[in-house]
Amino acid sequence: MTYPPAQALPIDLSTVCCGRCGVYDASLRCSSHRWVVSSLVKASENAHVGIWCARCRGIEAAKATAISLLAGWWSLRGPGATLAAVRANLKGGEQQHARMNAQMLRGIARLEFDKGNPELAVMFASAAHDVSPQRENSRLLDDLRRAGHRGTPQKASPWRFAPFVPPIVLAIALGALGLRALTGGDVEPATVAAVRRPALAKTVPAPQPRAAKGWNPNASADELEKDLASDSSPGLARAYFQARLREAKAQIPLLVRRGDNLWSLETSIAALDKHPALTQLLARPAVRTAYESLKDALRQSNRYYHGGAPVEAIQRTAGETLDVTVGIALDAIEADSRGHTERSDALADDAARHAQAVDEMKQDLRIRGAVITQTTKAIDACLDATRN
Ligand SMILES: [Zn+2]
Repeated sequence: MTYPPAQALPIDLSTVCCGRCGVYDASLRCSSHRWVVSSLVKASENAHVGIWCARCRGIEAAKATAISLLAGWWSLRGPGATLAAVRANLKGGEQQHARMNAQMLRGIARLEFDKGNPELAVMFASAAHDVSPQRENSRLLDDLRRAGHRGTPQKASPWRFAPFVPPIVLAIALGALGLRALTGGDVEPATVAAVRRPALAKTVPAPQPRAAKGWNPNASADELEKDLASDSSPGLARAYFQARLREAKAQIPLLVRRGDNLWSLETSIAALDKHPALTQLLARPAVRTAYESLKDALRQSNRYYHGGAPVEAIQRTAGETLDVTVGIALDAIEADSRGHTERSDALADDAARHAQAVDEMKQDLRIRGAVITQTTKAIDACLDATRN
């Protein structure tokens, strides 16, 4: 980005004001806000250059940051260029020509002094001195002060934090997305399988082959249990055990997604140990080990997961809460910039509470994802053990 030489300021100082909102105050600076858009083979960079007040500079920086974060990465040179652009915008954009900014502010200060507005003159002269503490900038300020004109010190604008909002929102959104992938990814296939199984059973009413002992290998666990006695064949005992586990595996994602607890499931799996017909099967070391691990996985799951709202409701609420959080955070910055400190503090607390709520919802979903993964994995191990 090339600026005009400081000597030839190409602007009429008497008309300088914020290029976006028209505000005229000592926060005016010329700055450049670079953003990166990548298209696989190349990264193109653009920039907005202008004179803006602190608020509008924050908004320009936030916009450039948001565009770069979304569109900047996706090329070979993209990540480097994106990081550089984001870093520059987080610092309030590129204002590397401090001399030019100082010259502009000093010029306005003189203009205001000549117009008989010493208070405004002090304000702009102080800003010039802040930008570039050189003799020519401090001299004017000293002259004004000696003449008895003292301005109130300029407060740093809270809008300088605006460019931090996009990275924070992106980080939270990515966290939520990762979670959705975790719960959705784990839940979906099993849910589909569970939904399809009864449908298939209805559309294919072909007679199932009956096993020699008179039991149907494709019957439900409840049906098999009716045929089961302490002297039943090992084949029937195994079929019943496997049917119970398969049904539990299909049920778990549905229950967890709906927000039901797994207490009765833990009880019914533990009850298999008491069934006289299963004594022989469960005495096999490999089956016993896998079965104990499954009971342990269910116990652990029930310790951390006690049910609650349906997953879809939590995801929806988390999304809405996130939107609200960003809105409140921006309101807090706005209130602070207007000097409404108490309201700004209250809003900031409110935003923190909302962010905390989103975090708790994410934690809840994370636990549910882990419950589904751990318990279904343990069931698979148990089913494998019975097949050998
Ligand atoms: Zn403005």
